[in-house]
Formats: sequence, C-alpha cells, structure tokens
Amino acid sequence: MLATSRRVVITMHQKPDADAMGSSLGLYHLLVQLGHQVTVISPTNWARWLNWMPDCDKVLNYETEREKANAILDSAEWLFCLDFNIFYRTKTMTEKLQQVQCIKVLVDHHQEPDVASFDYGVSNTAKSSTCEMVYDLILALGYGNLINNEIAQCLYAGLVADTGSFRFASTSAAVHRMAADLKEKGLDHAAVHDNLFNNFLENRLRFIGHVLSNRMEMFYEYNTALIVIPKNDLLRFQVKTGDTEGLVNFPQSIQGIKLVALVIDRDEERKWSFRSKNDFDCNTFARKYFNGGGHFNAAGGHTKDSLADTVAHFKKVMKENVYLLQ
Ligand code: 5GP
Ligand code: MN
Repeated sequence: MLATSRRVVITMHQKPDADAMGSSLGLYHLLVQLGHQVTVISPTNWARWLNWMPDCDKVLNYETEREKANAILDSAEWLFCLDFNIFYRTKTMTEKLQQVQCIKVLVDHHQEPDVASFDYGVSNTAKSSTCEMVYDLILALGYGNLINNEIAQCLYAGLVADTGSFRFASTSAAVHRMAADLKEKGLDHAAVHDNLFNNFLENRLRFIGHVLSNRMEMFYEYNTALIVIPKNDLLRFQVKTGDTEGLVNFPQSIQGIKLVALVIDRDEERKWSFRSKNDFDCNTFARKYFNGGGHFNAAGGHTKDSLADTVAHFKKVMKENVYLLQ
C-alpha cells in the first residue's frame, strides 16, 4: 500500500520524548524517501533539547498551529500513531484524531492498546522502544538500504532514551544488534549521546539539586521514594518542558528502593510518574489509582485533585500495597 504516493500524517503522544519524536521523525525520513507527502504533528510543544533531530523544525505543534494541522489531518490518507496506545494521550488532539476519516496505523509498545481505534498496527510490549519497532518495520519492508544518517540518529536517540542507555531489562540482544547495524551504517553515536544528555541549561541542574535535597521523602518500610514538586519550584527555577524528565530515575539508585513516585503540580493537572524494580507492576498501580498506565516498570498518571489531596491518596494506597512492596 505504500507503493503509491500518499498524504501521510505521523503523530505521537503529548509532550513527546526522544522515543516519540525519534520514531516519528525516523519514519518521516523513510516515507519522504519513498515519495510520500508527510507531515509530523506533535499534540503539544516538546523539550528544546530534541530540536537537534533532523527536520524537527518542520514538526507542527498542534497547540499553536491548530488550523493548519487540522487542514492537513482532514486531507490525510494515512495516519501513523507512534508511541502511544490510546487517543487521549494526545490531549487536545484526541477528538480530531477520532473524527478524521483515514487509515489509522498504530506502532507502539505500551500495554493495553485501544485496538478498536486503529485499522492496522503493531503493539508489542516486549519491544524496548517505538524506535526499535520502526527499525523492525523498515527492515521488514525491505528498505534497510534507505536507513540514512537522519533515520539512524532519530531512531538511535529513542533507543538510548527508552532503554536508559542500554541498561533496562528491555535491552534485548536485538536492541544491541540494531545499535550495531546503525553504527555500521555510519552513525555517530557519541554525537547523539551529547545531544541527549549534555544539552541542558544551568537551571535544570540547580533544580535537580534542589528537588533531591528538599522534595524527596523516603518510606523505607515500603521501599518507596516520593518526590513532590509544587508549582512554585517550577517558577523559581524556570523549569521548561523536558527539564523534569529523568528526575524520577534518581531515587532508584538508593539501595533497596522498589518504587519511586514523582508528582508535579502542573497548571491543568497533577502529573504522576512511577518507576519500579523487579516484580512491582507500575502499569496496574497507575491504572488502578491514578487514571494512568504505561509499562510494567515505568508508568504515569494524572488527576485534577489538589497536590495535597493526591499526595495523601498516594500515601494511603502505598500503605494498602505494602505486601507488594516487600
Ligand atoms: P513518564 O513517567 O515518563 O511520563 O511515563 C512513563 C510511561 O508511562 C510512558 O511510557 C508513558 O507513555 C506512560 N504514561 C505516562 N503518563 C500516562 C498517563 O497518564 N496515562 C497512560 N495511559 N500512560 C501514561
Ligand atoms: Mn516509548
């Protein structure tokens, strides 16, 4: 079906991370080479440290370019949905995506995808990243020879980000083979690492220092660390989109910690992130108590409750789940 030129839209979850943006732009650079008219639309803005990705400047932000994006969506023949499992993960784009009449394709690695909303798709929670899935797709289509430097950089970025630089359990032999293949195709992997991890502003480091010193509470009985970030902190340190990413991983380095929970007081909602080790199922936990979901060891959620209320709720359900946290 890709043999004739199509009008294609690629989209991803709101506040895209390196996997969402990398897989979308990786697929974009393939489809453009195949002669398709492709537009990447992000539901919201994204971290400034993703801007180095080739053609990131062509990505439309649905929040600020809604009319243009809607017109493109109305005439799209194909819609690729990358790195999310259900339309509401695109926030204000949700209704539009439900409404557009075109072929909808899902490529994703989150649990419990909303299959009924898509015409075709691959959903595989065993995959490290959506970038790995796009890579698999390119090889399965027989287009391995089209993996140029642009595609390699984008896909490698998501691979590194979602595997925690090749350390999470999802780092399979296939992940290393993919990295090796991209390397053989000429990828400068050190440059990608530099772009991802050495590309922040001073305020972010100061903010992390402040949060770890003053906003982290330990519950050793429950092998749990909780970080609560009030709105004032975001203002004081001029925290921008993406600056809080990775923060939730820090307490995992404390001996014995099984669950890390982080909540940020955003304008419109309180946003939770959960990370666990071993057999604690964050996906179920986030789904059951915080309107969320994700993966087994990494999930998120959100609520309209006040910061104090949602923190109290967390402490209550943490105690109820004490047997799972041993
Ligand atoms: P993060 O903590 O990095 O924001 O998200 C961790 C994982 O959980 C990601 O894979 C993300 O897609 C998923 N996730 C985060 N927030 C939500 C949410 O509110 N709902 C669902 N279904 N998944 C989420
Ligand atoms: Mn992902």
